Amino acid sequence: MLIECKSIAKEIREKAKKEANGKKLWLHNIVVGGDEASLVYARSNLKLLRKLGFDGEIHHLEEVSERDLISLIDSLNEEDDVHGIMVNFPLPKEINALKVRESISPLKDVDGINPVNYGRLLLGKEILVPNTPRAVITILENTTPLRGKDVLIINRTPVVGKPLSLLLLNRDATPIIAHSKTQNLKDKAKKADIIVVAVGKPRFLTRDMVREGAIVIDVGINVVDGKLVGDADFDSIEKIAYITPVPGGVGTVTNACLVENLVKAAKLQGVI
Ligand code: NAP
Repeated sequence: MLIECKSIAKEIREKAKKEANGKKLWLHNIVVGGDEASLVYARSNLKLLRKLGFDGEIHHLEEVSERDLISLIDSLNEEDDVHGIMVNFPLPKEINALKVRESISPLKDVDGINPVNYGRLLLGKEILVPNTPRAVITILENTTPLRGKDVLIINRTPVVGKPLSLLLLNRDATPIIAHSKTQNLKDKAKKADIIVVAVGKPRFLTRDMVREGAIVIDVGINVVDGKLVGDADFDSIEKIAYITPVPGGVGTVTNACLVENLVKAAKLQGVI
């Protein structure tokens, strides 16, 4: 059974546009190095922003020192007509990612990666929350009550698994985080009411790991024979459980959540 995500994304985008009250908001997106996936993501976000009457700029820096990167972020922090700043990860190893996260103004931190916004989430305050886990929780809230549900998250990264576990705790669900060293993953998956898979391996989650009637949220993005696919064996799982598609699933809602966060950031800055 398909979990339809496009209408969820549309609703988030339309609400955000209305709340912006005609104000043209600007997002600055920094991509360091030649990571093609980050560039594709940045361009698709820019296209969406323009479609909604907002705008933005992509700073594609092939090579940059940590000092110059942080000084670019500092200057964007200072500019009144910059409402959101996003830095695409992974960064090259020689750049200290924590310092970069810390340098983004918490008020312009539209991907919720500054430790201040992370810390707020830890304390139960959802101010600017990372977009991908926010997308997952929004899809789930549109699909099922979360209180008391056992949710297996197969991912422990700061981008997906860790913040998602906090969002679930805030909603009285019971998150279980699995990773590459987890034992008996199949048994854990079989018992879960909800499985969120974000491993980055096509067909990682198979039908025999999912109980009938469960909910599967597929965060994975993989390219197989030129086609985008997720981490779940969609065709077989769809016959017994509820599942999000790839493409047109979590990624679409994540893009909409970024627009939502841009509007939230502008409100925090007092511009709308
Ligand atoms: P990542 O840094 O490679 O993390 C993958 C996670 O999967 C890690 O926690 C890893 O465990 C775990 N894992 C790997 N093999 C496993 C196994 N055999 N059993 C159990 N767990 C295993 O990737 P990421 O950046 O978090 O992204 C994950 C996927 O989500 C990718 O496909 C990415 O493209 C996609 N993604 C989608 C969106 C979106 O908005 N739709 C956003 C971000 C990422 P360890 O920690 O032990 O290594």
